[in-house]
Amino acid sequence: MENCIFCKIINGDIPANKVYEDDYTLAFLDIRPSNHGHTLVLPKDHFENIYTLPDETLARLMLTVKKVSLAVKDSMDADGINISMNNEEAAGQIIFHAHIHVIPRKSND
Ligand code: 5GP
Ligand code: ZN
Repeated sequence: MENCIFCKIINGDIPANKVYEDDYTLAFLDIRPSNHGHTLVLPKDHFENIYTLPDETLARLMLTVKKVSLAVKDSMDADGINISMNNEEAAGQIIFHAHIHVIPRKSND
């Protein structure tokens, strides 16, 4: 997708702090983190949101979310992890390339 900032990151046209990558998915640090270690996980193919994600793509995405959650928990010494996804403008989606937020939490943060 020509004007999608996440496709540009996937294609290497703009930089990101990559955390994990395989043939189907990519994870990188959020540029405006809610907490230190806030990571975004996305499919390399462009789909707007949960409604249009093919089941197989969603399954691969969630396997990466689990890997990234374990890595983020370990590296950030997190007490917990929030996993969330904004779908459509009304839900706060601002980048229309489907992605999942992995946010490490500390007790009493
Ligand atoms: P959402 O669409 O889930 O509401 O939010 C998109 C998320 O992407 C935000 O948390 C925002 O900080 C992050 N973001 C937006 N543009 C960039 C970017 O160019 N690089 C990175 N690493 N994160 C971005
Ligand atoms: Zn895209």
